[in-house]
Amino acid sequence: PTAMHDINLQPPIVHWQDVGGQDSVKKVLSRMIKYAKETDPSVPRVITPSKGLLLYGPPGCSKTLSAQAMATESSFNFFAVKGAELLNMYVGESERAVRNLFNRARAASPSIIFFDEIDSIGGQRGPGGGGSSSAASKSSGAVNMITTLLTEMDGFEALSGVLVIAATNRPESMDEALLRPGRFDEVVYVGPPDQAAREAIFRVHLRGQPLAADVDIPNLAARAEGHSGAEIKNICNKAAHAVQERYDDDETGIVKLEFTMEDLEAALLREPIRI
Ligand code: ATP
Repeated sequence: PTAMHDINLQPPIVHWQDVGGQDSVKKVLSRMIKYAKETDPSVPRVITPSKGLLLYGPPGCSKTLSAQAMATESSFNFFAVKGAELLNMYVGESERAVRNLFNRARAASPSIIFFDEIDSIGGQRGPGGGGSSSAASKSSGAVNMITTLLTEMDGFEALSGVLVIAATNRPESMDEALLRPGRFDEVVYVGPPDQAAREAIFRVHLRGQPLAADVDIPNLAARAEGHSGAEIKNICNKAAHAVQERYDDDETGIVKLEFTMEDLEAALLREPIRI
């Protein structure tokens, strides 16, 4: 297998409004796009815009979703690849895949390259690198891949129309070389949703759905404290299944196809907190 089927030019169409909360993340990503689009040298600027940005935080809290929204909203081309998939390739093949990815992104610029699970290739290199025992045994394949990635990132200017976004749940196991200036020099925490964000996430995943008058989203959001966006989505999906089944099983014609507060509460109680 190659990485090619995992690299796609057509990500799901995600808009900023599909990402509940995360206002500061949206702001940083929008600013990055704004700078990338501002190629006029006569525009006054005292900074060198970043070409690489690292999103870190617990799983299911919208790192991937935000990167997809960034691509949609900017109409930049989007290339996504998962670290683990590169690592599973044969020796040499993964470096070629990384180089190929950058070549394609440059050819299709303006574009965004999204490296999910970057820690799986970007872990500390070699013994004495300050890492754990697994870091000490980092395969030479991973080392070559980091080198390839660094070479590619060092090889173009911030304004060349290619932005590189990486995501990780484990920033502490990132190779430090990746975080130096000119590489992933902007680091943004994408944390669990607060009350307002949880309300917004429920609204995103219940958008267009028939809701009974008793559905109280602020109340659900308060009780969903500790849940990630991905878990809130699960809650909405599970409730939807219950609603549909009740409707389909009804032979009296009385049951309405709509979510009640009870459907959502039941789904919420059954959803384990994982983050
Ligand atoms: P991982 O580290 O596991 O890759 P992630 O932070 O990249 O996690 P996403 O893939 O962005 O998580 O989130 C998974 C799914 O959860 C999204 O596709 C989306 O449906 C839902 N979700 C997460 N956060 C939000 C949010 N803020 N608003 C709406 N939906 C969300």
